[in-house]
Formats: sequence, C-alpha cells, structure tokens
Amino acid sequence: MSIAVIGSNMVDLISYIHRMPSEGETVEAPGFAMGCGGKGANQAIAAARLGAEIVMVTRVGNDVFAESTLKNFEDHGISTKHVLRTEATSGVAPIFVDPESHNAIIIVKGANALLTPEDVEWAREDIARCSLIVLQLEIPLETVYAAVALGEELGIPVLLNPAPASPELDLTRISGVEFLVPNESELELLTGMPVASLEDITKATDVLVAAGIANVIVTLGARGALWAHAGGQQLVDAPTVEALDTTGAGDAFIGCFSTTWVGSDDVLAAVRAGTAYAADSVTRQGTQTSYAWAEESQPA
Ligand code: ADP
Repeated sequence: MSIAVIGSNMVDLISYIHRMPSEGETVEAPGFAMGCGGKGANQAIAAARLGAEIVMVTRVGNDVFAESTLKNFEDHGISTKHVLRTEATSGVAPIFVDPESHNAIIIVKGANALLTPEDVEWAREDIARCSLIVLQLEIPLETVYAAVALGEELGIPVLLNPAPASPELDLTRISGVEFLVPNESELELLTGMPVASLEDITKATDVLVAAGIANVIVTLGARGALWAHAGGQQLVDAPTVEALDTTGAGDAFIGCFSTTWVGSDDVLAAVRAGTAYAADSVTRQGTQTSYAWAEESQPA
C-alpha cells in the first residue's frame, strides 16, 4: 500500500503580531511559531499518519529548514531517499497573523521550484511499486506533466490536486489522471465557469468528466465534497464541527482519500473517509499538527 507523493515542502514561519506593519515600519511580534508545511509534505504526512507507506519526491535547500523537513519525514517513517538537496534556500512561508486571525502570507518556493522531470525519472523504480501517484502545483508544471506521463507509462493511477490554482495548467496534458481534486475556486479557474451554487459546480465538473477525467472530486469546505464521474454525481456531507483553523484541510482530505482508496479501491468510501478526516482536522489549530493519527501508526 505505497503512495508516491511528488511535490513541495515548506517551512511555515508564523509571527503573531498586534497589527500589520506599514511600509518602512518595524513592529514587535509577541509570538512566533515554526511548522512543517507545503502541500506535498502535508498530504504525505496525513497519509503516513494513517498508515500509508510514502515515496516522497521533493527538493530541499542547504539550510536549517531542510534539517527540520528531513527530521519531520523521518519521524513519520517516510524515506528521505528521494528528498534531494539543492544549493538554494528551502521553501519557506513567512506568515503574519493578527489577533483577529487576518493573515498575510509570503511563499518562497526556493528548492521546490527546482524539482525537475529528471528528479522524477530518477525515482522511477520506487514510484513503480506504488499504487497511486499524488501531485499538486507547487512544483514546476513540466515536472507535474512528466509525473502524469510516468504514471500513464507505468499504469499507475494519478491524483492531481490543482492547487494553488494555476492559469497556466494545460488540461490536455493532465486529462489522463484518474482523480482531479480541486476546491471551488480552483474548479472555477480550471473551467472558467461559475461555481456559486451546487448546480453551477455540477455543470463545471460535467465539463471535466466529458474532457476525459475519470473522477473529479470537488472539496466544498463545510459542505463536504462532490464526486463526479461518468456514472453520475454524489454529494458527501461533512460532519458539522466547530471549525477552529481550516488551514491544510484540503491536504488532510487528499492524504486520507489516497490512503483509503489504495487500501480499498472504493472511491465513495475514500471520499467519505477524506471528508470526515478533514472535518476533524479543522477542529484543531495548525496544519500538520491538526492531522489525527491512526492508532496503529502512532509512535509510542
Ligand atoms: P481547501 O483547504 O483546499 O480550500 P476545503 O475548504 O474545501 O479545502 O476543505 C477540504 C475539506 O475539509 C472539506 O471537504 C471538508 O471535509 C473539510 N472542511 C473544511 N472546512 C470545514 C468546516 N468548516 N466544517 C467541516 N468540515 C470542513
């Protein structure tokens, strides 16, 4: 039950401030926290916490942030064989959060921007024994296309999370993916269609299914998720929870969906599990720290 995650890692650098500084101003932040993030790493960590074996293909820099990312993977039993070092900075995300939870975020892609199609090729042997390839868009698009093509060549299903939304994504080069998992705004950008109502969303997913994508799964925040495929559409409600922090909810969904699907081959069961797991994660603060462990995977 192995999953190849080919994607990003970042270190979040969170300053808790009284108010946003204006240009040229220095303000003091009463609190600071550091956390491992990046969409690829988040999805890999959620899946690992649920018991999946992960082949992680990513790039880190040559700095202190790389050390914490490597340690985080090791702590989750994720092999670092394909976590490649680069003479660049690691991916980092300086984040400013004020007392009303307004935030400003800067993404420094760093080493993530240097993950190449050759890096994917180099990991071919380990990818070949996986049951699913999971991709997002925080790495170069050419690398995403190469991973989609490798999945097709090896006969391994591919899940693409088209996040963050990219206007440059060429749908014709990803139409062979087994699962496309956007949120509402990503669906809007992908299709150029409105997503204001469930009816709109259904029409937009119809277009993607007609274009040849086997399964389109739209995450809908507190409303759950919609699964669209050639056989029809199914809405899966999210449990009602008291949401404390929704950052990383989409990544939690994908980590759990992927683990459940490779273990069962049952898409509906995987959508249900992903929806419930992500809803649970929003009841806790943080990104990876909010992801629950399966009892049997939790370190003693
Ligand atoms: P993203 O984080 O990518 O924008 P969504 O906001 O669609 O993704 O959330 C992903 C999943 O997280 C949803 O499908 C749902 O299961 C869960 N979720 C998110 N927000 C809530 C909420 N307020 N209440 C319950 N579940 C939620």
